[in-house]
Amino acid sequence: MIPSVLPTYNRAPLNFTRGEGSWLIERDGRRFLDLGAGIAVNALGHAHPSLVQALTDQAGALWHTSNLYQVDRQQALADRLVELTFADTCFFTNSGTEACELAVKMARKYWHAKGQPERVKILTFDGAFHGRSSAAIAAAGTEKMIGGFGPVLPGFVHLPFGDLPALRKALEDPEVGAVLIEPIQGEGGIRSLGDSALREVRAACDAAGALLILDEVQCGVARTGRLFAHEWAGVTPDIMMVAKGIGGGFPIGAVLATEAAAAGMTAGTHGSTYGGNPLGCAVALAVLATVADPSFLAEVNRKAALLRQGLEGLVAAHPDVFDEVRGEGLMLGLRCRPAAAEIVQAGYAEELLVVPAAENTIRLLPALNISDEEIAEALARLDRMAQRAAKAA
Ligand SMILES: *Cc1c(COP(=O)(O)O)cnc(C)c1O
Repeated sequence: MIPSVLPTYNRAPLNFTRGEGSWLIERDGRRFLDLGAGIAVNALGHAHPSLVQALTDQAGALWHTSNLYQVDRQQALADRLVELTFADTCFFTNSGTEACELAVKMARKYWHAKGQPERVKILTFDGAFHGRSSAAIAAAGTEKMIGGFGPVLPGFVHLPFGDLPALRKALEDPEVGAVLIEPIQGEGGIRSLGDSALREVRAACDAAGALLILDEVQCGVARTGRLFAHEWAGVTPDIMMVAKGIGGGFPIGAVLATEAAAAGMTAGTHGSTYGGNPLGCAVALAVLATVADPSFLAEVNRKAALLRQGLEGLVAAHPDVFDEVRGEGLMLGLRCRPAAAEIVQAGYAEELLVVPAAENTIRLLPALNISDEEIAEALARLDRMAQRAAKAA
């Protein structure tokens, strides 16, 4: 008999009933150190006082009115994001997938409005993950995601990740209108494009007149030690997808764009009933009030260096279990020799949560405000996890 929850996930037999910062408490009382943060969502850990305050204050005032009216918190959040980033304008969604939908629609509308409606093709990359809608699975293009869900939305051309010659060649096609890429692939196994490659991608887009869409759903919102990952490369996109960390656990996403890229998106061309509702926007404003502070970002960088150094030591101590550290900032990965799924299991036994990804990698995506003591504790548990995994292998 089919479970009452549609069984599209293989869930671990863990049921958390409380969260406190970087800790999750199982209903049996065990305290797990959370290095997954709800897959890079709980940017400030669990039950952060300023987020709880923002949400409960807003909940007592107003939950929802719809986008038929002015929404004060939405306006404030858009203004703040415009102030903090390359963007001139923002649209709020409820998820990363919906941000992908709009990014794709916006790019196509841009060319349509410019009188070049043939420029519908979007270049995407192996190992990409942009969500689970029809457009997002077409963008990723793997059999695992599209199998059985055809007909697949046309117009996506898949290239090897980071293959700049292939990108330049593909951009010669006059029907290509945009490039969609993650500066650091998350689901794809914590694979960094690298700053110089990102600059090359920007330059190749400029040379071809194509739009650059960055998917910063996982790597954005201070995860790499800058508010957005592309800032390290000193280039900006035309369109950017944001979600996960921006809501700190409340479902909200966004598409940020330049005025030029958004030119086709006039009244009536897109919408969302819930998108930009006061609850999500109030929480996102509170997240930004903390994470956009330069002193907070400096701490993320300091802690990232501390954790990374520990992970390098872990790889050196357990060459039979791990073969490399990957990633940037607090978006880190360990490539495993035994199956990553077994390492994750060994972590559960040590009351430690890590998240598997492609390329036999485990992801470490801790809360950005994890303490030095918690990093030390995480490294001790990772070491025990590795010993356990080595014994089982
Ligand atoms: C998680 C993720 C998405 C999809 O976001 P949802 O909120 O799950 O729809 C898109 N892109 C990237 C890079 C992601 O990590």
